[in-house]
Amino acid sequence: MLSPGATIGILGGGQLGRMTALAAARLGYRTHVFADEPDSPAAQVAAAETVASWEDDAAIARFAAAVDVATFEFENIPAEAVHRVAALKPVMPRPEILETAQDRIAEKDFLNRIGVATTEYREITSAEALAEALAGLAQPPGRRAVLKSARMGYDGKGQVEVGAGTVAQDAWRRMGAPRGILEAFVDFRCEVSVIVARGADGAMAAYSPVENRHVNHILDTTIAPATLPPPTAREAVEIARAIAARLDLIGVVAVEMFVTRDGRLLVNELAPRPHNSGHWTIDACATSQFEQLVRAICGLPLGSTERHADAVMHNLIGTDVDKWRAALDDPSARLHLYGKRAVRPGRKMGHVTRLLPRSS
Ligand code: AMP
Repeated sequence: MLSPGATIGILGGGQLGRMTALAAARLGYRTHVFADEPDSPAAQVAAAETVASWEDDAAIARFAAAVDVATFEFENIPAEAVHRVAALKPVMPRPEILETAQDRIAEKDFLNRIGVATTEYREITSAEALAEALAGLAQPPGRRAVLKSARMGYDGKGQVEVGAGTVAQDAWRRMGAPRGILEAFVDFRCEVSVIVARGADGAMAAYSPVENRHVNHILDTTIAPATLPPPTAREAVEIARAIAARLDLIGVVAVEMFVTRDGRLLVNELAPRPHNSGHWTIDACATSQFEQLVRAICGLPLGSTERHADAVMHNLIGTDVDKWRAALDDPSARLHLYGKRAVRPGRKMGHVTRLLPRSS
């Protein structure tokens, strides 16, 4: 067990690292952030920072020497950098889990291997192979699919919707990566996610499933809890717990799922780190997802996931951040700003969680 006073290394400097550092500080831990840009949201609230490129081995070694345990807050960190830290200090979750989540094909292969349902998918490595696959969508008419880059995709980047009439060369160019995954389009009723924390002793704590609404492929709103038939909600939690156990996870994992029109759950994505759809837990739960991560990787008992309020979380994306002042006048609203100076379209600048009386 790492007692308060120890130093937690955080690979990545974004808002997830910032909120993890704040949770760590509350429990008396120090944090050291490794980021490839100065003045990152996480480093602004950490005790120490290293600013260097992910390829800078000497900086990675200095960072590892300065921390007692390390974690990551961002999926697209080069796996080699994470392995280099892991050779020197414990990294949790283990780097292999990050590698699985970095590759949509490896991720879906893993899910299917452990018996978790996903949409149908296949690997595509050329425009010619895409053309062949698109021809297969001709019958029955109207079948759609989504072509995604296998790696480095997030918030809808590198995604193209396709059908039998799509020109393969165009879609392949727009997707823009050497390896793609073609997924059958899911006509979903809603999208939900479950966040589960797991400790080194195998103990697990899951939050209620939440509903996620996206705008332009970016999470816009999370509604906690999701309105689901109780058996579907239970099944969603069971799926997330099974995934955490089979990953042999120490940390937190967010499991994003589609609820199909006929009530089935299909897993879309895993994120082995705190997740945007869990920000509401800071204000509405006994223990936040960030504190659970700190507890799990320091070998402390996990906290209660009990919800003391229902919640609706809105991301402040791009110029939405200008609404920050109004949020202060709403007694039900909790404002979180990430300290990002440059406002860019699609950039997550902060979020607002509104608390509502607990429904159930
Ligand atoms: P992803 O990057 O995989 O999380 O995708 C971003 C968003 O695109 C999802 O949250 C869905 O709203 C939508 N999406 C992704 N894959 C599919 C699919 N196979 N069928 C329908 N919608 C999808």
